[in-house]
Amino acid sequence: MDRYDVVVIGGGPGGYVAAIRAAQLGLTTACIDAWVDAAGKPALGGVCLNVGCIPSKALLDSSHLYETIGRHTKDHGIAVSGLSLDLPSMMLRKDKVVRTLTQGIAGLFKKNNVAWLAGRARLLGDMRVSVTDRTGAEASVITASHIIIATGSVPAALPGIEIDNGLICDSTAALAFSEVPRRLGIIGAGAIGLELGSVWRRLGSEVVILEALSEFLPGADFEIAQAAAKELARQDLAIRLGCTVTGVTVNGTDLRVAYQKDQGQHDLAVARLIVAVGRRPNTEGLGLVECGINLDGRGFVEVDDRCRTNLRDVFAIGDVIGGPMLAHKASEEGMAVAETIAGHATEVNYACVPWIIYTWPEVAWVGQTEQSLKTNGTRFRRGVFPFLASGRARAMGETGGLVKILGDAESDALLGVHIFGPNASELISEAVIAMEFGASTEDLARAIHAHPTLAEAMHEAALAVDNRTINL
Ligand code: FAD
Ligand code: NAD
Repeated sequence: MDRYDVVVIGGGPGGYVAAIRAAQLGLTTACIDAWVDAAGKPALGGVCLNVGCIPSKALLDSSHLYETIGRHTKDHGIAVSGLSLDLPSMMLRKDKVVRTLTQGIAGLFKKNNVAWLAGRARLLGDMRVSVTDRTGAEASVITASHIIIATGSVPAALPGIEIDNGLICDSTAALAFSEVPRRLGIIGAGAIGLELGSVWRRLGSEVVILEALSEFLPGADFEIAQAAAKELARQDLAIRLGCTVTGVTVNGTDLRVAYQKDQGQHDLAVARLIVAVGRRPNTEGLGLVECGINLDGRGFVEVDDRCRTNLRDVFAIGDVIGGPMLAHKASEEGMAVAETIAGHATEVNYACVPWIIYTWPEVAWVGQTEQSLKTNGTRFRRGVFPFLASGRARAMGETGGLVKILGDAESDALLGVHIFGPNASELISEAVIAMEFGASTEDLARAIHAHPTLAEAMHEAALAVDNRTINL
């Protein structure tokens, strides 16, 4: 029976990063992963690389380019004619991006001496793990000094709505449509609904998103959410809030979604429907309960602040433990756990996890929102700067959105940074680093920002905290 210092179950951004870090620290490491790609081949990278972050961003970038060429080049004095969409080629490009990256992880495993065991893992107790192949036959049993569970999550379903990945789809099928649906319905205006809604709208669908909550993006700062809602509505992404879906009927190709809104019953006819109402932990068949590992009321693996389960040498990371279901959060936990196992003292700073929604403009934030500070009774000062007043944003023709900075009223400590704007996903890193280093808004205001850049909007928003913006 093979024995490893560390056995990681799951090869997503949590698991593969944990495995590489453990191996870098001199621990003998194996990573068991059950993913197989559309061609039936084992592939590392989990949801993120195969059907999540990467393919969605490939399509977001392609569709953004298509829309920019179709609608926005005229303002720059560039006339384009004969523009057409070649969806199969766009999909092939996306698949190639995915393949290159997943194969890259296999290369990294080889380089770092991580044993990749393709198959499904099940805990047998006494730190033994069985690995079965796709036929369900047991391929091997290995033992581990430490186990890291990184099995991720799967799409949540709605009662009474069967996802068949024909007309009614989850996010995975929605990344691979063979034609642009004329009218696309989406249930859920979260990250997936907004990102995939943006992709298909740009490519020509009429998109209607039905959201149960009456508030748009409640996790974001309200001012940013308001600005995003206004801009997305201007782009004809129809987001209907406060909708309770009561049923979905399919009759041949006739697909109808019945929902209640404002006490009225409505009926939405669509060509396809994406259900994007969150994700649930993936623990099925893992043998956790049989081994005495505690799950919480919603099925997430229970861990302490070092990602340790109730069994001393079994850790869990990423989507399967809940909290923000984000790839970078999973990876940070993976690194921290590998280092903890190797005897280093490391922990994840959950206060500095950035959130991004890749609409265009993009939504990005880190830290507390204005509404959460008010609820906590924290006294704060705020500075806001619109991209309309940024020279670089004007040069780019990207003047929508704003930066908002929140600082503690007494200490001036940076409490939150919120952006709706071009390249917000990149701009937010400055705020993450500043907060990680315990910076004040004054520190941001005193740092020299190159001109002309979008980052100057961060600088001006920091100056605005003290009512001393220059360019507004
Ligand atoms: P996963 O990536 O889910 O990987 C888990 C792996 O474990 C899988 O390969 C699975 O096959 C394997 N596994 C499960 N059970 C077993 C078993 N018993 N034996 C062996 N292997 C097993 N996050 C971002 O931060 N940014 C984004 O832009 C972003 N975009 C997204 C877009 C979409 C459409 C989706 C669906 C998600 C997106 N996410 C994004 C979320 C992100 O993908 C997840 O947070 C991330 O993948 C979680 O990583 P993980 O390692 O915990 O698990
Ligand atoms: P989500 O939690 O972001 O959004 C789900 C939305 O569906 C919520 O607004 C919720 O109120 C709504 N909803 C729930 N039940 C409903 C119902 N019955 N009717 C109508 N609306 C309903 O989840 P998601 O968009 O499915 O994404 C899943 C996970 O993947 C998230 O945790 C997200 O963080 C992650 N993800 C991240 C990114 C990113 O970082 N850019 C992109 C995609 C996905």
